[in-house]
Amino acid sequence: MQLPDPLAELNAQQREAVTHDDQRPLLVIAGAGSGKTNTLAHRVAHLIRNGADPQRMMLLTFSRRAAQEMERRAGTVLQRAMGLQSTTPPNLPWSGTFHSLGARLLREYAPRIGLAENFTIHDRGDSEDLMGLVRHEIGFSEQKKRFPLKGTCLGIYSRVLNTREPLAEVLQSVYPWCTQWEDELKKLFGAYVEAKQQQNVLDYDDLLGFWADMMSEPVLAQEVGARFDHALVDEYQDTNRLQAEILLSMKPTGEGVTVVGDDAQSIYSFRGATVRNILDFPHRFSQPARVVTLERNYRSTQPILDASNAVIAAARERFTKNLYTEKGAGAKAQIVLVPDEAQQARWVADEVLRRREGGVTLKSQAVLFRASNHSAPLELELARRNIPFVKFGGLKFLEAAHVKDLMAVLRFAQNPRGRMAGFRVVQLIPGIGPASATRLLDAMADAPEPLVALQQFEPPAAAREEWAAFTSLYASLVNTSLAFPADMELARSWYVPHLERMHDDAQVRKLDLEQLARMAAAYPTRERFLTELTLDPPEVTSDQSGPPLLDEDYLILSTIHSAKGQEWKAVHVLNVVDGCIPSDMATGTSEEIEEERRLLYVAMTRAKEHLHLVVPQRFYVTQQSGGGDRHMYAGRSRFIAEAMMGAFEQLAWPQADASLAPSREAQAPVMSVRDRSRAAWR
Ligand code: ATP
Ligand code: MG
Repeated sequence: MQLPDPLAELNAQQREAVTHDDQRPLLVIAGAGSGKTNTLAHRVAHLIRNGADPQRMMLLTFSRRAAQEMERRAGTVLQRAMGLQSTTPPNLPWSGTFHSLGARLLREYAPRIGLAENFTIHDRGDSEDLMGLVRHEIGFSEQKKRFPLKGTCLGIYSRVLNTREPLAEVLQSVYPWCTQWEDELKKLFGAYVEAKQQQNVLDYDDLLGFWADMMSEPVLAQEVGARFDHALVDEYQDTNRLQAEILLSMKPTGEGVTVVGDDAQSIYSFRGATVRNILDFPHRFSQPARVVTLERNYRSTQPILDASNAVIAAARERFTKNLYTEKGAGAKAQIVLVPDEAQQARWVADEVLRRREGGVTLKSQAVLFRASNHSAPLELELARRNIPFVKFGGLKFLEAAHVKDLMAVLRFAQNPRGRMAGFRVVQLIPGIGPASATRLLDAMADAPEPLVALQQFEPPAAAREEWAAFTSLYASLVNTSLAFPADMELARSWYVPHLERMHDDAQVRKLDLEQLARMAAAYPTRERFLTELTLDPPEVTSDQSGPPLLDEDYLILSTIHSAKGQEWKAVHVLNVVDGCIPSDMATGTSEEIEEERRLLYVAMTRAKEHLHLVVPQRFYVTQQSGGGDRHMYAGRSRFIAEAMMGAFEQLAWPQADASLAPSREAQAPVMSVRDRSRAAWR
């Protein structure tokens, strides 16, 4: 039997990238929808087919979901090419984000780099809380009234780490209002690092920072690097300096390195990512890279490509990619004017159902928005009409108090020195307040055996009975005599009575805990479960009853950032107004504004056949500076200039409100809530 040659499906440039086999590092730089991710998946399959060991490949993607999707694609290619009966995708044990692979490597090498193996990982919230606590302990919060908030402190710390720039420079360029605090911040960060060490916790930044540190030790660098023949990275434009350094240290000659990306889609510089990584890639390694560009777009129809190209062509930087598509005819991209956000929600719900009638399933449609909270009115509307949805890019599920509680029980068992988790857990016991909790955690911190210290702890009289129940639970969890997730069941049955005591809606909350238990079933160990969930939180569903079944149809709601790399037949973008895109928070410098333009470009290029940009004529902005919600008239995003309107079709809804279509004048803001709030401080 003649088996199909997977290379036959690719165009000449894609084929060139897939089969590249000399020692040079390889860069594929190309526009949206040109098949970069597809090419990478084919390359993985091609390498394996030609004898590469999947266990010695490292596949770095932007999310766990993206990694799974890529493995699936590679698996399909392999099976077709090799006629494999089995449906299992290639087993690439090293696939995931830089952070998750960092966590795995650090865990493995812990004994050799001075880390305790059972470290736990703080999510953003825990890290902020710890920063707040340390700040309080060293007395900055009381004495220095205008000292930056804990979130800002963490932001500064994180930026210094990820960009590898000195503190003074970061303050100058990004936090100019904090420059006066340089010395204090240094002291604070020193104490924060100390606290993490004492508690045996790592934050997100440590996962990269320690990995890079490990690679700066020649013996280890040699050993770790030699474990991998190939390192392949998707979405390279959104990596930061530290990640580029790690890649370089893993493969200094660049042999076996493949990266793909699009400079026009760089949208993470607010987190320290730098587009310089992809631009400088050709000359970063000890030998120059081979560069392949792809020009044919396979995703979108010509009208959608035209509209997206118009938006990006107006950017300050020049992106040199010239995309064309052979998917010629199709509907023009639409700009839909609606009176306000409530009507926007109604229009989108109507439109989604109308498309479904026309044969476009809910799953092949997505609603995208700038910020996670922008979808709230739509979520209500969808729930009202029983339209199932899954929301990506929100942290809500793990942020719910009861989910945090149960996770904290597991974390505290995993790492008895983790104070944030411990503090949360022991105060679930009636009669134990912050003072007793602190006394206990101090005793545990100083003890050679934290478990013994906990067992010897004298709780306040009121807590005695409950305390006994907890110590026995804790001992079983720490001793891990029970396999995961059975130990989780034990923790849940301990926690539920507390939940019922604390919350009137315990019944609903219990459903979330059941969902958590179901998720746990997919992980081999407690440690992996905690790590993966912390690094890549699960999505939220409309009915709170767990991830939808595969055969169920549901609409996708996502932030634009989380929609990266994906595609849908129909895409509806919410709030395409000034103040949302560009975000009110981002209109400071022209670099920030340019990044918002690229964000809109990313959103638009997700669409295959139908693209709607919805423009509410009136919408709320939430002032962070304490002003609460305010009404403001905004108007179409500045990124869709009058001159580009030819690339769009404009419609107003409801029809009667066509008069609301903004004239040039109406588009100018009638007021600036920012100026007003600024004036309040003068
Ligand atoms: P993005 O920049 O958004 O990440 P991308 O460059 O990674 O996009 P892919 O997601 O890999 O693009 O591909 C876009 C679409 O084009 C996918 O549906 C993919 O299956 C399809 N595609 C890619 N290459 C080909 C090809 N040679 N023939 C047919 N379809 C292709
Ligand atoms: Mg891609």
